[in-house]
Amino acid sequence: MSHQFIRVALPVPLRRLFDYRLPERAAMPVVGGRVRVPFGQRQLIGFVVEQNVTPELDPETIKPVTEVLDQEPLWPLSIWQLLVWAARYYHHPLGDVLSHAAPALVRQGQLPRYEQTTWYTLTKEGEAVTPADLARAPQQQRLLAALANGPAEASVVRALDIPASTVKTLLDKQWISTEQRSNEPQNWVFTGANDPLQLNTEQAVAVAAMKAPLERGDPTVWLLEGVTGSGKTEVYLQAMAPVLERGQQVVILVPEIGLTPQTVARFSKRFNVPIVSLHSGLTDSERLQGWLQARDGKAAIIIGTRSAIFTPCQNIGLMILDEEHDNSFKQQDGFRYNARDLAVKRAHQEGFGLVLGSATPSLESLANVAAKRYQYLRLTQRAGPAQQAQHAVIDLKQQRIESGLSDQLLTTMAKHLQAGNQVLIFLNRRGYASALLCHECGWVSECHRCQANMTLHQFDHLLQCHHCGAQKSIPRQCGGCGSTQLVSQGIGTEQVQETIARRLPGYGILRIDRDSTRRKGQLAEALNAAAEGDYPILIGTQMVAKGHHFPNVTLVALLDVDGALYSSDFRAAERLAQLYLQVAGRAGRAEKKGTVVLQTHHPEHPLIQELVNNGYSHFARAALEERKLALLPPYAAMALIRSEATSKDAAEQLLKAIANSLQGVDNVTVIGPMPAPLGRRAGRYRYQLLLHAEQRAPLHNTLMHYLPTFEKLPETRKARWSLDIDPQDFA
Ligand code: ADP
Ligand code: ZN
Ligand code: ZN
Repeated sequence: MSHQFIRVALPVPLRRLFDYRLPERAAMPVVGGRVRVPFGQRQLIGFVVEQNVTPELDPETIKPVTEVLDQEPLWPLSIWQLLVWAARYYHHPLGDVLSHAAPALVRQGQLPRYEQTTWYTLTKEGEAVTPADLARAPQQQRLLAALANGPAEASVVRALDIPASTVKTLLDKQWISTEQRSNEPQNWVFTGANDPLQLNTEQAVAVAAMKAPLERGDPTVWLLEGVTGSGKTEVYLQAMAPVLERGQQVVILVPEIGLTPQTVARFSKRFNVPIVSLHSGLTDSERLQGWLQARDGKAAIIIGTRSAIFTPCQNIGLMILDEEHDNSFKQQDGFRYNARDLAVKRAHQEGFGLVLGSATPSLESLANVAAKRYQYLRLTQRAGPAQQAQHAVIDLKQQRIESGLSDQLLTTMAKHLQAGNQVLIFLNRRGYASALLCHECGWVSECHRCQANMTLHQFDHLLQCHHCGAQKSIPRQCGGCGSTQLVSQGIGTEQVQETIARRLPGYGILRIDRDSTRRKGQLAEALNAAAEGDYPILIGTQMVAKGHHFPNVTLVALLDVDGALYSSDFRAAERLAQLYLQVAGRAGRAEKKGTVVLQTHHPEHPLIQELVNNGYSHFARAALEERKLALLPPYAAMALIRSEATSKDAAEQLLKAIANSLQGVDNVTVIGPMPAPLGRRAGRYRYQLLLHAEQRAPLHNTLMHYLPTFEKLPETRKARWSLDIDPQDFA
């Protein structure tokens, strides 16, 4: 009998598939199911990609499959196709893409099934027992009584304080029996929406525009641009209602885990349907249960972060991606996908409507609106009682400054505090100071593993590197000359807190940054306390910028944005504009009018003028025009190849070799190699090579053609490299 072979994708960093032989008389495993196979000295779990293949190698040398794990594909065909497409688009090994998309327990080889629980039932013999038979065994009597009305779950029996030994005794006597039951949830029904709001005209137009395409299952993409507080969430809720009513599922993607509880709360208040949330804070088993409920249609609403884009759904009718401009939809390591772009692809493949919502849409999405690929919906007014905030710029050149706080800002803060309101001070730098500096010789507290300074953390009494996490105690003397004249440089949130406490005494201060919210639950607690108005003064990093509602805040101040004004990153202006408006959106959400203050040394800078006087849309139109002239994304395609190695030379030589092999390629410009902006991290030197093309196709084809040769370059033995398609971050 001749052998049969299958082609398998394995979670290894090689852009190729592997052939394995089936054991004699084994049934052909399904495409999309898992197999356990030998790989080198290890056993790996892989995914069957093709059946009945003719192997490329000598069949005699091909190893057999160890074990077939699935009788059915893990994913429905639509998700399988999305994953295969993503592996091609991002030029990432298919096995790694598939294992990334699978729940951890499935990746590790467990069967994808609902949790099983133990149930106890009376047997015929057990039913015949009378209390008198057990006069001297009260525990046994209690257990029999508990089961008299029908089977009970083990947890119920445990809650009755019946000892395990009693259970065992009755099992041995065969008076009771056990059975495993699956915790598969019931099917759900839509029972209407609780207290929908009366929509304003713009909201009503948006909801109406979505109605018919959603009914038809058209893969329409809507960009819903609405200033903070304009009622985007109400639009989502009302667009969802008819979808749920048809029995279809809705998927909602949010940028970060911190936003999921708030989102879940709002959606569960409106609809009495099962909601699952999928994010990195869950245990592996909770994640698998949620994944199954989504796949089988048992969950009506699925709320998750980036990776939830790969969650299979039995019957999806609508997907919503909130804060679509947010960078966290892009995975920055390993499989570097963009969940927003995959959502668009998935909508087309699966046939459902997609809403991209933001107060500050990405330039990519605005370009897609201009190209008529997306439909544009706008909410220009704040809904409900909130009023539009007022913007002001403080020229730092004219001011006395202490710890980054101008006198004018402190005076303004005092006014808002005296009126009983809250103020929010935004500074995207945690710690006390960016560095420790010797006043006599100029020595700086550098990290010895990174090309970066170590941050001074006064409250924890240490120096910490924010790039590799290295820590050491604060030196008393200069590492260069031994002087004791050490001074701090660059202001962090701790220092702002200290100075505010001194300059505006008597007001409670809550600092929200990564250091103050390290323990599990601390962030949610802090955000709650902030929203409740427990602290008059809030100081925060970007953690407070996203989506959280602080109804009593009437003053928001951004301390330091000057770094972004003259950055070499072509996206810096867009990021600053988005951050500015996101932070500004925290002010004046309730009845109170808000003020947004920006401190800068460059009040005349066109970007600042544009933002303060004309708003985001105006800025975005001008920025898109600039990108077009400069042939930058979204009007060009880019790929970034990064290398790193413990030797500087090895990191550079690898990219030189790659650049050399690309010489003479048409329609793709190769720029570099050049050192990465952070030239060394955690002891490794880092280089970059940028590939730029006016059209996506030549870039894609070039990579398709040359990547296999890159993998074989001898220089890869001394340096690691990675590929980033549509890079967002050039650090
Ligand atoms: P966004 O998501 O755009 O920031 P929200 O949906 O959170 O805005 O709405 C902001 C506030 O306005 C919320 O308190 C919400 O309840 C209220 N709101 C939204 N739509 C309406 C409406 N049509 N009528 C009255 N209040 C509304
Ligand atoms: Zn010194
Ligand atoms: Zn470091």
